[in-house]
Amino acid sequence: MEKLRGLKCRECGRGYPSAPVHVCEFCFGPLEVDYHYEALKGVVTRQSIAAGPPSMWRYKDLLPIDGDVAVGHHVGFTPMIRARNLADEWGCRELWIKNDSVCHPTWSFKDRVVAVAVTKALEFGFDTVACASTGNLANSVAAHAAEASRPTWSRERSWPRSSTTRRWWPSRAPTTK
Ligand SMILES: [Zn+2]
Repeated sequence: MEKLRGLKCRECGRGYPSAPVHVCEFCFGPLEVDYHYEALKGVVTRQSIAAGPPSMWRYKDLLPIDGDVAVGHHVGFTPMIRARNLADEWGCRELWIKNDSVCHPTWSFKDRVVAVAVTKALEFGFDTVACASTGNLANSVAAHAAEASRPTWSRERSWPRSSTTRRWWPSRAPTTK
């Protein structure tokens, strides 16, 4: 049994095959991955996750990737920091904070979703990736596309929206021989 049923509209529940689409054709609701959780039962365990690589890809069985991981081998696995003073202040016996500002190639948590998106784009056979971004998403897309040796086009829009600064940032993967 495969782990992916396809995609499902979050608004109306209509199902779609696994394909590079993101919005429902009937209600314009966002599509999300529809997992076959029965197929994952017993396959994904605390032990199977702990035996995975020290990156976000230890959760690969819970992500919509069918084949091999293409990019983002160093993304995720951010450390937990014990916050003793804050625990005392809040009356907690123990308090830990996830330090999500490290362990990402571009120092953005968006590296996680981009690693999945670029890997899936390659599975779908795309040879170029693009995005609209206010900054860090564009950095992440360019970095992961370069890792996959693919060109990128990112549209950066300054914030606030009234700003007129809009640029297209082409990013070419470095050529290696
Ligand atoms: Zn819908």
